Amino acid sequence: MTRLPVVHHPDYQAPLHDGHTFPMSKYGYLREVLVERGLTAPGDWLTPAPATEAMIARAHDPAYVARVFGGTLTPEEEKRIGYPHTDRVTRRSRLASAGTLIAARFALETGIACNTAGGSHHARHEHGAGFCVFNDVAIAIRALQREGGLGPVLVIDCDVHQGDGTAAIFRGDPGVFTLSLHASGNYPFEKEAGDLDIALPDGSGDTEYLAALDTALDRVAGEGPFSIAFYNAGVDVHADDRLGRLTLTDAGIRARDCRIIEWAKARALPLTCVLGGGYDWDRHRLAERHAILFEEAQASL
Ligand SMILES: [Zn+2]
Repeated sequence: MTRLPVVHHPDYQAPLHDGHTFPMSKYGYLREVLVERGLTAPGDWLTPAPATEAMIARAHDPAYVARVFGGTLTPEEEKRIGYPHTDRVTRRSRLASAGTLIAARFALETGIACNTAGGSHHARHEHGAGFCVFNDVAIAIRALQREGGLGPVLVIDCDVHQGDGTAAIFRGDPGVFTLSLHASGNYPFEKEAGDLDIALPDGSGDTEYLAALDTALDRVAGEGPFSIAFYNAGVDVHADDRLGRLTLTDAGIRARDCRIIEWAKARALPLTCVLGGGYDWDRHRLAERHAILFEEAQASL
C-alpha cells in the first residue's frame, strides 16, 4: 500500500489561555486519531523546519514579517489576528507555512499529500487576520514559483469562510486561479473578489453544497490545465460547527473531500491538502471530522 505523505509537527499546537475561541488542541487530537487509524505513525510523518523570514516575505510585506519575527506587532494587529503574539504562536505559523510547502513538494511527486495544519487564508500581504498570521498556501506557491518551471496553480478553498487573504494576494497574478466556496453570511463580512467565488446561503446542507461544488469544479476545469492544486479542507462547514453557518453532515464532508480528490486524480493534478478551520468544543469529534480528509486521501492512492 502506498502511504499517504502526512506533514506534522508537535509545535503546530501552541499554548493559548483556557477558553480561547481557537481550538488549538485539535492538532494533538488529530495526530492521535490519525495514528489510531493507521494513517500515520510516530516517526513516519514529515516534519517541517520553521519557514525563514525571507521565504515568508515573498508572500507578505517584509515590514509586517519583520514585526512578527521581532515581536513588535501593534495591539491592533494582534487583535485583528486574534491570537496573543507569542514566540510559540510565531513558531507555529512558520512551521505550518513550511509544512504546506513540504506537502506541495510531495504532492508533485506522488500526486497527493496532506499537511495537518495550514489553510491560513485570511492572512493578507500586509497583515494577519482571523486566526491567520501567515498565509501558508501563498508562501508555498511563491516558493515554488520562484524555483521556476511551475505552470498555473489552482486554489480550491472549501473552508466555510471566504479565502479573502489568498484572493487578495493573488489578484492580478495570472498564474494562480483562486476558487472559494463559502457561506455568504460568514466572516469576512466584506468579501474579496477571487477568480471564482461561490457564496452559499446560510443553512445550506449536503445536497446544495455538493451541487455547488460540482458546478464550481466544472467551471474551473475550463480554466486549466493546472500544474498543482491546493485544497483547503476546512470542516467548519459542519452543522455542529460553532462558527460556520452551513449544515453539512460528516457524510457530506466525506463526499466533498472524495469528489475533489477524485477530480484532481482524474486530471493527474497534484493535490496539496491543508487542514483549514474547524471549531467545536468537543476536540475529539472535531479531530475525527478533520481526519476524514486523510482517510479519503489515503483511499485514493
Ligand atoms: Zn474557516
